[in-house]
Amino acid sequence: LLGSDGSIAATIFAEMSALAARTGAINLGQGFPDEDGPAEVLEAARRAIADGLNQYPPGRGMPVLLEAIAAHQQRFYGLTLDPATQVIVTAGATEALAASLLALVEGPDDEVVVFEPYYDSYAACVALAGATLRTVPLRAPSFQPDLDELAAAVTDRTRVILVNDPHNPTGAVFSAEVRAEIARLAERHDAIILTDEVYEHLVFDEPHVPIATLPEARDRTLTISSGGKTFRTTGWKIGWITGPADLITAVLTVKQYLTYVNGSPFQPAIAVGLGLPDAFFRGIADDMRGKKDVLGAGLRAAGFEVFDPQGSYFTVADAAPLGAADAAEFCRSLPERAGVVGVPLTAFVTAEHRAPYATLVRFAACKRVEVLEEAATRLAGLQ
Ligand code: PMP
Ligand code: GLN
Repeated sequence: LLGSDGSIAATIFAEMSALAARTGAINLGQGFPDEDGPAEVLEAARRAIADGLNQYPPGRGMPVLLEAIAAHQQRFYGLTLDPATQVIVTAGATEALAASLLALVEGPDDEVVVFEPYYDSYAACVALAGATLRTVPLRAPSFQPDLDELAAAVTDRTRVILVNDPHNPTGAVFSAEVRAEIARLAERHDAIILTDEVYEHLVFDEPHVPIATLPEARDRTLTISSGGKTFRTTGWKIGWITGPADLITAVLTVKQYLTYVNGSPFQPAIAVGLGLPDAFFRGIADDMRGKKDVLGAGLRAAGFEVFDPQGSYFTVADAAPLGAADAAEFCRSLPERAGVVGVPLTAFVTAEHRAPYATLVRFAACKRVEVLEEAATRLAGLQ
């Protein structure tokens, strides 16, 4: 986790946002929206502060939020959860991932199967937990795993299969076949499925299917989500985990020594968000679909090969048709050449697996349409 000179290596998102700030480029690097979330949610947080909800909340989270999370899982996915034992609130999905991995793995004999490219904290947390990382590649254009490669990676040493669906950075949504195979392998090898579904409401084609709804998976799956993406409140850091009570207890044991608790006035506000009508949730998916279409069209017109996402905040594009040989270099020069920031996919892979991703770039579509159009205009000057 340290840089080659022993310094702390900044995450790729911090580095790219700093580059955007320094150059004044449009930041399509770090994934955060440039508009506020729903007024009711923001107002609920203001009210909570005014009402004095400013001290430590309960360790599991405030009952109003635990109940709202359980009601959300029931309403959207038909999953019945006991809010008192099968739900906990965390400091974002980031803490949920860290606490879960620290709770579930013991040491280097425990393997964690991760799909590659992966969200940057996955490999870092596997390393912090002292476990062994086993990766399964997701290749363009579909970014679905090969079922034989998946089956070969999962063995009796596998303690956790870490899923991210919809997927960051590729925007892929796993097929029903892939989900079923993950559940089958987890059962066969007695592994736990840890699934990060923070983009659950940002899917473009079919409704999201949590892997926890598969009967073989239900009793061995911890599902992570977060209010950040759904309610455009990435700075609030209200995340949660749902799953079997024994696994939730194990994670809570670790979590209480990481952050203990977080964000008391934001917890009832996210509870308000989770209770918004269906039209809100359809609306954010429609909005993001429109945005990724604008971004995709702009990238194509600029000469990139575009891999149309099925969900998430992100679109992956290949810069090779523009003559790029190395996406990291391309991204470092892009602010100067075109006034736009993107993130090289090589930031999301292990060093030995860089080759297939060498010229791929992730662009964030979670920006106002006029910003995406301006980015497209600037990128058009690249050719
Ligand atoms: N997982 C994925 C796949 C993400 O994209 C992100 C944030 N971009 C996180 C986890 C972190 O979520 P949070 O901000 O709630 O900690
Ligand atoms: N998850 C966001 C992204 O993928 C960034 C979060 C962060 O900066 N750690 O861009």
